[in-house]
Amino acid sequence: MLRTGVAIVGGGFSGVAVAAQLARCADDGVAVTLFEPDPLGRGAAYGTRHREHLLNTRAAAMSAFDGEPDHFVRWLGSRGAPERFVSRQLYGDYLSEIARQAFERPQFSHVSDRVRAISESASGGFVLGTDRGTQFESELLVLATGTPLPSDGFLPASLKRHRGYVADPWRFDYRVVGGHVLLAGTGLTALDALVALDACGHRGAVHLVSRHGRFPAVHAEPPVRYDVVPALDAADARALVRSFRRQVGAAAERGFDWRSVVDAVRPESEALWRRLPRRERARFDRHVRSHWERVRHRAPQQVDAVRDRYARSGRLHVHAGRIVDAGDAYVTVRKAGGSEVRLSPDWIVNCTGIGRTHTFGLDPAEYAGRMWCTGALLRGERFESTAVPELRVSAAEVAAEVLYALRARVSLTG
Ligand SMILES: Cc1cc2nc3c(=O)[nH]c(=O)nc-3n(C[C@H](O)[C@H](O)[C@H](O)COP(=O)(O)OP(=O)(O)OC[C@H]3O[C@@H](n4cnc5c(N)ncnc54)[C@H](O)[C@@H]3O)c2cc1C
Repeated sequence: MLRTGVAIVGGGFSGVAVAAQLARCADDGVAVTLFEPDPLGRGAAYGTRHREHLLNTRAAAMSAFDGEPDHFVRWLGSRGAPERFVSRQLYGDYLSEIARQAFERPQFSHVSDRVRAISESASGGFVLGTDRGTQFESELLVLATGTPLPSDGFLPASLKRHRGYVADPWRFDYRVVGGHVLLAGTGLTALDALVALDACGHRGAVHLVSRHGRFPAVHAEPPVRYDVVPALDAADARALVRSFRRQVGAAAERGFDWRSVVDAVRPESEALWRRLPRRERARFDRHVRSHWERVRHRAPQQVDAVRDRYARSGRLHVHAGRIVDAGDAYVTVRKAGGSEVRLSPDWIVNCTGIGRTHTFGLDPAEYAGRMWCTGALLRGERFESTAVPELRVSAAEVAAEVLYALRARVSLTG
């Protein structure tokens, strides 16, 4: 059995960010092992095969380090301006470079293998078994397994047997696609699929299906920063929405776009969420969250321009409804009004968004002080746990707690 002090499972943004923080601050002799079967720093978002896929956040907001806001912009140099949306591949290069530097540190290692199972060890640590059959024992554990593939439980089973079905829209190579395409979903992932298809010279029709048939909102150019921190009423979900609308109205009167208000609310959103009574959080999730996410996670204008080009060439067909049946050569969509439309796609891409996360059957609450979850894995627990500006804070918090736990152990045993 191999031994390590800290095991990090997952080397996308979050696993790399935690490792980098530890490499900067850990005392001599600390051993850190990160498990990631794929190249470091790529994950679902930055492992795309298409350089046309852009960040949907401006470069200025994408530093990997909390407290060093211009770290990414300095790394970018002349390759991109702070207010631009640069290529996600380029951002993956940035994270790879951060990982390379972190793993230069003695006793920091990357194991290029997938963790299959984790259990508690006899000494109160963890035993990790990998796909290749190696076993590691670690004192502390950080789970950063991130963004699972889109859920498919609500799609007809026969759709998933279609020969052109694509379950992973993020790592898929769109160059192989020809003919008619059906995208299940109309969010940022569906727009990404359109961008990749367009870049690969696709000339067929694209049908998109989602419950509401709505696309994400689009970023303003140039961005305008709101000069007020909006005061919102979080007594209940309805009061929250009302006070937000009032703020948007007040901002408009002073010539500020609604996007400025959304961006000004964002740093406060976690605190607002915690102030909402628990019952009201469930109401917010049911009635408001999808609207909030549509305005909060916006598409760059270049991306929306591709959608517009498809639409103007008559090749874009949007259906508000759901897929109810599928066979080898057809897919049936039931529209919101009850009517049905039958499509014959050559390819079907699941763009329904991030699926359910898993923590190897371990309950983090049971292992407080020895085990942490970070990154996209915290979706559901935190109000915002999707994008880098929040994930880097979570990574820094986890690294600080890991360091504290390591030092406490040394002082107890020393
Ligand atoms: C398509 C897409 C675009 C995005 N664009 C942006 C953007 O522009 N700006 C922004 O701020 N945010 C963006 N995001 C949000 C994005 O999720 C985060 O920025 C970040 O990538 C999440 O990091 P993570 O480490 O939590 O998860 P991931 O990046 O998903 O990394 C998880 C890693 O864990 C590994 N893993 C999983 N299971 C195991 C296992 N059992 N053993 C070992 N390794 C394992 C996976 O291989 C993966 O590399 C985007 C997300 C997606 C999906």
